[in-house]
Amino acid sequence: MSRRRRVYEGKAKVLFEGPEPGTLVQYFKDDASAFNNQKTGIITGKGVLNNRISEYLMTRLNDIGVPTHFVRRLNMREQLIREVEIVQLEVIVRNVAAGSFCKRFGLTEGAPLPRSIVEFCYKNDELGDPFVSEEHITAFGWAAPQEIDDILSISLRVNDFLTGLFLGIGIRLVDFKLEYGRLWENDQMRIVLADEISPDSCRLWDASTNEKMDKDRFRRDMGNVEEAYQEVARRLGVLPGEGPRDEVKGPTLVH
Ligand code: UDP
Repeated sequence: MSRRRRVYEGKAKVLFEGPEPGTLVQYFKDDASAFNNQKTGIITGKGVLNNRISEYLMTRLNDIGVPTHFVRRLNMREQLIREVEIVQLEVIVRNVAAGSFCKRFGLTEGAPLPRSIVEFCYKNDELGDPFVSEEHITAFGWAAPQEIDDILSISLRVNDFLTGLFLGIGIRLVDFKLEYGRLWENDQMRIVLADEISPDSCRLWDASTNEKMDKDRFRRDMGNVEEAYQEVARRLGVLPGEGPRDEVKGPTLVH
């Protein structure tokens, strides 16, 4: 790990130079942070689980034609990804009211939304990732109108697909955050899904009990954080160490 050039270190992941030009290695740490880094801690084993969960979800999305930066998982904590230019936006998709959205609109947590809502935040820790409109995004040049269109349509497709996938294993996809990157192929640029999709970036509730199975357990000191991440991995059929040779067995559907 130490012999490779470290390109970037974030709160939950490190990016290293990849084996070939145009690739990076994404390393998943156990570090957790919340409330713009005001609360930090360790969720033991989180990096291993998020690597698997994100691998699985990105692969399934690739399979249905959603372009992503994901290439393949390398080992317990690392995956090979394509190097992209990150769009400085956090794209939030919401199906059910939760978190800061409840405060903003005076809603009770769990209230269903009339339709899925996509929101944009400017990715800037110093400013606390402020909520922005398309007007701000185009005026400040963070993304072009066509890129916003691509981001919106991909995000809604991801939402439809993941909502169904999670429901099949008894989990409600309440909301989640996506990040995008620009990938150049020859002279063509396209928008691809980047970062990770995991219980760090999604709100996941058990469909029958509404029990939280995501980072809110850490944010709100609810306990059993590791167990919740493990349960998501287990239901997706990607819990490491299950089955011979550690192969992924895939989700077990609930009826
Ligand atoms: N989210 C994230 N990173 C962020 C902000 C939000 O992954 O920097 C995810 C969060 O886990 C949740 C969704 O985006 O699934 C919506 O979060 P919200 O805006 O409600 O923020 P919060 O209430 O957590 O401050």
